[in-house]
Amino acid sequence: MSKIGWNLENTYTELPKSFFTKMELNPVKQPELVIFNSSLSKELGFNSGELEKQVDVFAGNTAPEGSVPIAKAYAGHQFGNFTILGDGRAILLGEQITPKGERYDIELKGSGRTPYSRGGDGRASIGPMLREYIISEAMHALDVPTTRSLAVVTTGEKVRRETLLPGAILTRVSSSHLRVGTFEYARTLKDEHDLKELADYTITRHFKEIKEEANPYLALLREVIKRQALLISKWQLIGFIHGVMNTDNMTISGETIDYGPCAFMDTYDPETVFSSIDRQSRYSYVNQPDISVWDLTRFAETLIPLIDEDSEKAIELCKRELSKFQEIYSEDWLEGMRRKLGLFDKKEEDKDLISTLLSAMYKYKADYTDTFRLLTLDEKTNNDLQKSEEFKEWYSLWKDRLENQEESIQQSQELMKQNNPYVIPRNYRVEQALEAAESEGDYKVMENLLEALYNPYDYSGKYEEYSKIPPKQENYRTYCGT
Ligand code: AMP
Ligand code: MG
Repeated sequence: MSKIGWNLENTYTELPKSFFTKMELNPVKQPELVIFNSSLSKELGFNSGELEKQVDVFAGNTAPEGSVPIAKAYAGHQFGNFTILGDGRAILLGEQITPKGERYDIELKGSGRTPYSRGGDGRASIGPMLREYIISEAMHALDVPTTRSLAVVTTGEKVRRETLLPGAILTRVSSSHLRVGTFEYARTLKDEHDLKELADYTITRHFKEIKEEANPYLALLREVIKRQALLISKWQLIGFIHGVMNTDNMTISGETIDYGPCAFMDTYDPETVFSSIDRQSRYSYVNQPDISVWDLTRFAETLIPLIDEDSEKAIELCKRELSKFQEIYSEDWLEGMRRKLGLFDKKEEDKDLISTLLSAMYKYKADYTDTFRLLTLDEKTNNDLQKSEEFKEWYSLWKDRLENQEESIQQSQELMKQNNPYVIPRNYRVEQALEAAESEGDYKVMENLLEALYNPYDYSGKYEEYSKIPPKQENYRTYCGT
């Protein structure tokens, strides 16, 4: 191991050749480090002071010790249509083995053209890379499984989008970059041996405990479904809208990936869509669980040949597993909602209590995060929701329910504090931070925002400024990050 702490392995390159292409680096002119995640770097086993100096590594100008850079092949259903894709602007430097023995992909995003770039330039602009950094780190702090962000460098080169923009590269860290789309790609190879290699690799990397099961491939499907159901439940509970749940953007590990057009919901409306290209509302807030099942069905299809040689039988087995998503999801969501309302025990009528609140929130256009924050603080305000008869009636039912629990009101409030974020990455705040960075080279706004986002459950009032709902009702739009 180097004094910097690089401890790379490259197990992905042991997969059949069709799954990746070895890459030369594509150096950039004048790299400059604009943000660095020293706490993550320590978790990964680096000497963070030394790593921070490795701007050339984050720029893709120099490969770190032990790296075999590759671009990975994958496919995907984008808005329902199947396409062959691959890392068009990313390269995997290798897998860092941490002091705890965990394995994390270290990947550069925006690092230049690859054989999978199709018409693209292989590059990224500063705004979307900083946006991914901010939101992925916020998600991590909110206890949502996610890829992480280690650094962003500007390249000193311009990228052409609608205008010329400063180029940037994000260093992304994830427990792997295996996607549903990787399995869809394997299926197009029409080579059962390669597919099996991929599935076995995946099991070894993420699901060792199922190796000895009678049908490990069916167990793989079961486990991936479980992780997705739990992930989507977390998204729904915090009001996160991913925005582009294509199968190439669904990881097998159950981590959130690809922060393009994602955003947090302000006003509670189940139909919320932010992405400018999602014209059919395919990836709206309320659709996220169903779309997840749609994507998982594509995953199941790839595994059919491995699950049983009798494909009819394999299909039946897959359907049975897929049908469990809803129950895992709903139970976890209901549990989460109970915690958000400070409920320790379970009562049948809780479902009604929750849906009555959500209906009133919808009717009176209440802010999703702020409603739960105010309930946690038991703070009265003069908003339309709190003024309404529906809310007043609901509030007294809820208070009765709390008082009839064994646990004290203080205990309920503690539970709520741990489950209702005080701060989320509000869209207008994120935009302010990006604007300052992009047009003035001022990164302080982003750093301050990040500090608040790293402490989403801090109710001390220290981050009150960041909890404020948008000044006016916005019609926020996001664009696919390129
Ligand atoms: P995304 O929308 O980021 O999930 O990307 C979808 C696909 O488009 C992936 O295969 C990307 O690698 C590819 N892609 C996105 N932007 C570019 C770009 N500027 N150059 C080349 N490929 C790209
Ligand atoms: Mg993607």
